[in-house]
Formats: sequence, C-alpha cells, structure tokens
Amino acid sequence: MQASEQLGLRLTRELGNRAKYGGFVYPILMATVALQTRLPFDYPMLFGVGAVLTLAGSYWRFHAASKAVTANEDWHRIREELRVASILLAVVWSGLSGLAIIEVPNSDFSIMLLFTLLGWASIGANVFAPDHRLAQVFVHLNLLPALVWSVLVRDRFTLFMPLIYVLTWAFLLLLIRRSYSHSKALIESQVELEQQAQQLRLARDQAQEASRARTQFLANMSHEIRTPLNGILGVAELMKESSLNDDQRELVGIMNQSGRHLLALVNDLFDLSRINVGKLQLEALPFDVRRLVDEVSRPLQLAAEEKGLEWRVNIRKEVPATCVGDPVRVRQVLSNLLSNALKFTDRGGVTVELGMTDGEHLRFEVEDTGIGIEPEKLKGIFEEFEQADRTTTRRFGGTGLGLAIATKLAQIMGGRIGVQSVPGQGSLFWFELGVQPPISEIHS
Ligand code: ADP
Repeated sequence: MQASEQLGLRLTRELGNRAKYGGFVYPILMATVALQTRLPFDYPMLFGVGAVLTLAGSYWRFHAASKAVTANEDWHRIREELRVASILLAVVWSGLSGLAIIEVPNSDFSIMLLFTLLGWASIGANVFAPDHRLAQVFVHLNLLPALVWSVLVRDRFTLFMPLIYVLTWAFLLLLIRRSYSHSKALIESQVELEQQAQQLRLARDQAQEASRARTQFLANMSHEIRTPLNGILGVAELMKESSLNDDQRELVGIMNQSGRHLLALVNDLFDLSRINVGKLQLEALPFDVRRLVDEVSRPLQLAAEEKGLEWRVNIRKEVPATCVGDPVRVRQVLSNLLSNALKFTDRGGVTVELGMTDGEHLRFEVEDTGIGIEPEKLKGIFEEFEQADRTTTRRFGGTGLGLAIATKLAQIMGGRIGVQSVPGQGSLFWFELGVQPPISEIHS
C-alpha cells in the first residue's frame, strides 16, 4: 500500500474510533427539545421526520464508524459513508434546534440551546479532526444557522452571542487545522516505526538463519574432520611401535601430540556447535559421583605432582552415593575446570571439593592458587573464544572454548557456573547441578 493510502486508511480508522458513539447524543437532544418546546405539536410532521432521521442517522453513524475502525482497502467508501451520516445528523439537528430557538426565542432554553450548539461544534471539531474537511463542514453546519438565529433573537442578548459565535468559529477552524496536522504527523511516524520494526524483524530472521546455517556447517565440518584425524593419530600410534631411529621417534611424537591437540580443539568445536543448534541430547543415568570425581582428578593429580603442586580432593559426607544425570557431561565440565586450574597454577596447589547446597544441588568447587583473573575480565571468560588476555594465551595456549562449553553444559543440565578470583592469588570456579534421586528411590 502506498504511503498516502496508508495514511488515509489510518486517519479513517482513527476517525471511526473517535466518532463511534457521539451520534447517540442526538436522540437525547431531540428528546430535550420535545419536552421543552411545543415543536412536536406545532410542526408534528416536520418534527416526526426529524425524529426518525435523528434515530436512523445516529445508528447509521455508529454503524459507519464501526466499519471505519476496521477499514482496509475499502476505506474511501467507508469514510464517505461516515461523512454523509455525520452531516445528515448535523443538518437535522441544526434545523431542529433553529426551529426550537424561534419557537421560544427569549427563554432560558434558547440560550441553553445556543450554548449547546457551541459546545457541540467544539466537540465535533476535535472528534472529526482526522478528517479535516468533515470537521470544517460540521462546524459550519452547527454554527451558521445558530449565528443567524442568534442575530434574529438578539433582543435578549444583543450582539454578545453573535460575537462569541464568530470568535469560537475562527478558533475552531484553527484548531481543526492544527489537530489534523498533529494526527497526520503522529500517524506518519507510527507508519514509519512499523516499517522499521518490520525491516528489523526481517534482518533479525535473516541473521538467525545465517547463524543457524553457519553453526550447522561447523557441526558438520568438525564431525567430518574427526574421522581422518583419528586415522592419522591411529597411524602415528602404530608408527611409534615400529622400528624407528631416535629422530623419527621424536618426529612421530610431535605429530602425535599436535594431532591430539587438534582433535581436542575439533571436539570442542563439535560440542559447542551441537549445543548451539540444540542437538545435544542429555542422558539421565544413575552414576557414582564420587568415583567420577576420582577418575577425573587422578590423571591430573599426577601431572600436578610433577609440577610440584599440592592436590587435594574433599568429598563431603552428605553427597549421595548415586546421582541421576549425564555422567559424560558432568565429567566434561569438571575436567575443564580442573585442567584450567592445573594449567594456570605454578605454585601452591589445587583443591577439589564436592558438597551439597540446600540438599538439592551438587556443588563442585575447584580452587587454585594460580595467576587469578582481573575483575573486569571475569564475566567475559564464560563467552565463546574469550580469554582473559593475549599474554595468557601465548603462555598457556588454549582456545577460549572450554568455559563456554562448560557454561552451556551446566545450563542445559539445569545448573549454573561461576567464579571468584583475585589476581595473583588464585581462583575458585564452581558449578552446581540439580540432583535427582537415584532410580532405585524413584521406584521404591
Ligand atoms: P582456554 O583455557 O582454552 O583458553 P577456557 O574457556 O577454558 O579456554 O578459559 C578461558 C580463559 O579463562 C582462559 O584463557 C584464562 O584466561 C581464564 N581462566 C580459566 N580458568 C582459569 C584459572 N583457573 N585461573 C586463571 N585464569 C583462568
């Protein structure tokens, strides 16, 4: 739809909203005139026709305004209908009220009627402002006959009334212009905002689609890379067993080590991309969490002792013997925290602690006396490819994926992960997981 059409449509809907119920005032005014004057007796025919037109007109106006509220392409026709209905009512009402003033020219009732017409014109100027032409016609129709009549019966209020009428008239025409341009500007900016929102939604969908495709590609690629890589590593293993001279053995060793490093990286990428596309399925198996901690910590403990570090494991009594969950993923998170602790600690030691919080969550804590992390870097390290700083990377290696994977795993297992750290003194990484009762307890 063109911009001008769109604007016309919105203005018509606004007009419909404003004009919907106001028409029902006319029958009330009619009734007042009938009670206060002798019009129904002096001009029964005229009054009867006026009454019927008023009733039918106010319903028609309501009907047309209701249609205008939900108008679409047909807004031109509906606006015409609403215009005709509103003008018809205004004509009938100004004719009848004029007659009423002439009937009782110098009464309080005629003064009240003249002021009612003024008030009614002012309200109409606001109600019909989204259609400035209709608003202008409405004001003219209400004020012109009344002005004439107020001049005719001026023996009661001299020129005071015509003066008020002329001033109000000018003021209302001004108000209609301002109010119309205000409504127009408001609707124009609303249309513009909606268009922008639409464009943004489109851009967001495209970006999400592109990101999904990229992640899917990454998942496929890392899966494909693993197969030949495992082949190379297998061959390197076999070569180590064959008869090689020292130089060759050393080269095969380097090849093996680099291959393993590459495999770890590809595994990380594979995991992360599977988590990101929501393809990681969790198991719910009963497992012995104490044994799990022991199995993860033992090989690292050996490496720690070689580095001259103290290694402590403390599992509290309240930890249940069996938990239900995905032991592979719990192991992955714990082993990431432990290998980081080992990697970033050169003196002192590492403590692993397993306990419960509020009886429902397992809490793993890995505390080290290593290099620690600057406070401003703390939040970022849980993001993908984030490392505390470049010198750390140069010194210790790594990809910046481990903690991102650990965070996502903890989240999809219904848990959380966090850290406290003092630069130069060490860090305490923790994660908590909800523990379900072991299957034996569920069934008993
Ligand atoms: P990687 O260790 O492969 O770089 P991680 O996601 O496991 O990636 O860790 C991200 C960053 O967080 C690390 O590069 C390091 O800067 C910081 N970090 C993690 N664990 C520790 C720790 N125990 N002590 C000090 N810094 C740490």
